[in-house]
Amino acid sequence: RPRSSLIDDEEGGVLFVSASASSSGFGYSTLERQRQRLPVFKYRTAILYLVENHATTIIVGETGSGKTTQIPQFLKEAGWAEGGRNIACTQPRRLAVQSVSARVAEEMGVKLGEEVGYTIRFEDVTNSGVTMIKFLTDGVLLREMMDDPLLTKYRKRNQGDAANDSAPSTVPAILSVEGKGFTVEIYYLEEPCSSYLQAAVDTVLSIHDKEPVGDILVFLTGQDDIDAAVQLINENALDHRSHSSGLLVLPLYSGLSRSDQDLIFAPTPKGKRKVVISTNIAETSLTLDGVVYVVDSGFSKQRFYNPITDIENLVVAPISKASARQRAGRAGRVRPGKCFRLYTEEYFMKEMSAEAIPEMQRSNLVGSVIQLKSLGIDNILGFDWPASPPPESMVRALEVLYSLGVLDEDAKLTSPTGFQVAEIPLDPMISKMILSANTYECTEEIITIAAVLSMQSIWVSARGVQKEFDEAKLRFAAAEGDHVTYLNVYKGFIQSGKSSQWCYKNYINYHAMKKVVDIREQLSKLLKRFGMSLKSCERDTQKLRKAIVAGFFANSCHLEAYSQNGMYKTIRHSQEVFIHPSSVLFRVNPKWVIYHSLVSTDKHYMRNVMAIDPDWLTEAAPHFYQRKRPNLSAPF
Ligand code: ADP
Repeated sequence: RPRSSLIDDEEGGVLFVSASASSSGFGYSTLERQRQRLPVFKYRTAILYLVENHATTIIVGETGSGKTTQIPQFLKEAGWAEGGRNIACTQPRRLAVQSVSARVAEEMGVKLGEEVGYTIRFEDVTNSGVTMIKFLTDGVLLREMMDDPLLTKYRKRNQGDAANDSAPSTVPAILSVEGKGFTVEIYYLEEPCSSYLQAAVDTVLSIHDKEPVGDILVFLTGQDDIDAAVQLINENALDHRSHSSGLLVLPLYSGLSRSDQDLIFAPTPKGKRKVVISTNIAETSLTLDGVVYVVDSGFSKQRFYNPITDIENLVVAPISKASARQRAGRAGRVRPGKCFRLYTEEYFMKEMSAEAIPEMQRSNLVGSVIQLKSLGIDNILGFDWPASPPPESMVRALEVLYSLGVLDEDAKLTSPTGFQVAEIPLDPMISKMILSANTYECTEEIITIAAVLSMQSIWVSARGVQKEFDEAKLRFAAAEGDHVTYLNVYKGFIQSGKSSQWCYKNYINYHAMKKVVDIREQLSKLLKRFGMSLKSCERDTQKLRKAIVAGFFANSCHLEAYSQNGMYKTIRHSQEVFIHPSSVLFRVNPKWVIYHSLVSTDKHYMRNVMAIDPDWLTEAAPHFYQRKRPNLSAPF
């Protein structure tokens, strides 16, 4: 246990920022003063006291009050990270993990990855033995629990020690941190608008025209509308030089590069007004100082899962009243602010739901079920969920895992497949595909494919140069489909010496390819741990395709109607689906295909599509597909 005297040690100057911090442009005192202004700062002693005396302490405070960046530092300063133990701080989003850890490293005047580090899937920026404060996603912590259920790396207390009367109380302590948010005036549209994108752009320009200095935070939904808004505002700034110059417009969504992230948090240059156009990541996960105006579109991208069709989609949907209030609050951090809601007051009062539906109730549960199982929680139906998921979703998840051979008839993890699938930090279907590649002797190729499939896309979007883009793609296109095409791209990239020029010429995303190389490396290490070596199928793509089918047999479709872009039906649910225009099989229309994922806009589109021989389905999953006469019958 840390010396209790440390608690009183506040005067002793345990707060420090080393001189190296000033090299980043912030002076020692500025950063230190910023820290001291945060609401949690006043509670430092109380927090340390409670943590010392209670096994669990719950601290409640507004977004931006300093919980994430300060409390880990308080604990470290009080000696909780001594003796090789770590202080862990989890965040729901990868971007938040990266950004917050960079900030804390800066405040402490250390290099990120040393005393302060972070771990997200496929990216470990820590130094074991040196790192004391580690930021990580919830998912990574859960995975660590598989190997170390008691999280011994982070725990210090010996609670079973009855002889020790200073053992902490098992009653949780709750501390509420008062933050002084400033008032935010709310403005509504008088009439509903037909395009929130255009309305957002107009509102930003009019704020810039009429309102005093202060940064603007705009909530849109995703990369597409955010990039479009950035472009529209910048174009307008060129047209009306006198009005809109002085705007510094920045996008904020997951997948931004490090340097783009830094721009968001860098102080606004003199004479400029920063406009950050963000997804709902800036709603609770990230706090931008200097924001005085918020523009709220009233929408966000939300996950919706339909257990009947087994289709999960990210769709743009209205936010709840609770979200709208949280968004508005972002304007009142430094002084009184204004929030412009791009909807009417009547809509807010009458149409918006009070709270959002918990994500657990609108997600595919395959990942959660497998995680619980691997933590030894077998009675999932009786599990005490904070928000119970719909039983249909649970049944669907068990069904999928059973068909993959991950769960046995008693719904227990199979050995070794189930345990191995749980250990691979990817969707169970991909994990199963990787493990099957060992049997089909094509692990070398499959881990490349798995790495590419875990990227959003390896192509760069090609607005305006569609023809050139299509031609570039043709250079790599394989008759088998997208998966084999990716192997060609990867080969080209390696042969080019991992050249960014080569990527540029071929409309390939260089950063994504570097990530692919990285992920591939980690998957290869994981396979070695399972005692599997890398084997190549050389040019025998049939082996490869069988391994893919072993993971994705449930996503098989048959061509029903031939037209320019043929209509397919899924074998499982007879859903109408189409090949996505980004696929190399678009308009090729093989008779039988499997897909990696579906995206829905006006129709359901299959992304990452591969031609198959239907016999492979019964071979891969005889229990799932029984051949009846010449046709395949739907399973279950
Ligand atoms: P909470 O966890 O209570 O929501 P945080 O600890 O995340 O609060 O934020 C505290 C302060 O640290 C905020 O004022 C925020 O602007 C600042 N901050 C957080 N991350 C960064 C960053 N990457 N760069 C600059 N400032 C940051």
